[in-house]
Amino acid sequence: MSGGQDRLVAVEADITMLAVDAIVNAANSSLLGGGGVDGAIHRAAGPELLGACRAIGGCPTGEARITPGFRLPARWVIHAVGPVWHGGDRGESALLAGCYSHALVLAANHGAETVAFPAISTGVYRYPMEAAARIAVATVVETTAREPRIRQVTFCCFDAAALGVYQRCLAQLTR
Ligand code: ADP
Repeated sequence: MSGGQDRLVAVEADITMLAVDAIVNAANSSLLGGGGVDGAIHRAAGPELLGACRAIGGCPTGEARITPGFRLPARWVIHAVGPVWHGGDRGESALLAGCYSHALVLAANHGAETVAFPAISTGVYRYPMEAAARIAVATVVETTAREPRIRQVTFCCFDAAALGVYQRCLAQLTR
């Protein structure tokens, strides 16, 4: 895959600090805020974000919605609703893949060329990190192949263990 190494990168960071065009939020279907990365994004963006989310009125699992980033360095927040892990036989993988593909299409349609994702569903929603990272990377590879407007996708890992998992997945692409 030519240019793949630069187009997909993994970093260890707080996603609210990233100066990319769009950050993705691991939201719940109400879009009304929660803990984890969702809480951090709402705190950093300011109260206007909750107002914008309230106006949208919710989002089904496996899909995404976009709002401005308000006080964040990122211009946009894309709220993706990941599945709760129930053991893997309730369509979790397709729903998780849907978060990544929908988010990237939304980003491209709004002119966002650089997008950062957290590890959706791997916190409170308990999706196993390895399996989630494999789906994240595979879906981003597939979707960016069809979306030339997306210049770079950052996998924003919250700790060193997650970063290691993503780095292994990305290394497998270039073999
Ligand atoms: P979910 O409900 O989708 O599981 P969580 O917010 O509980 O969402 O966790 C998703 C992932 O986001 C976890 O891997 C967690 O470690 C990570 N995370 C939490 N806070 C941040 C942050 N500020 N920046 C990036 N990732 C974060």
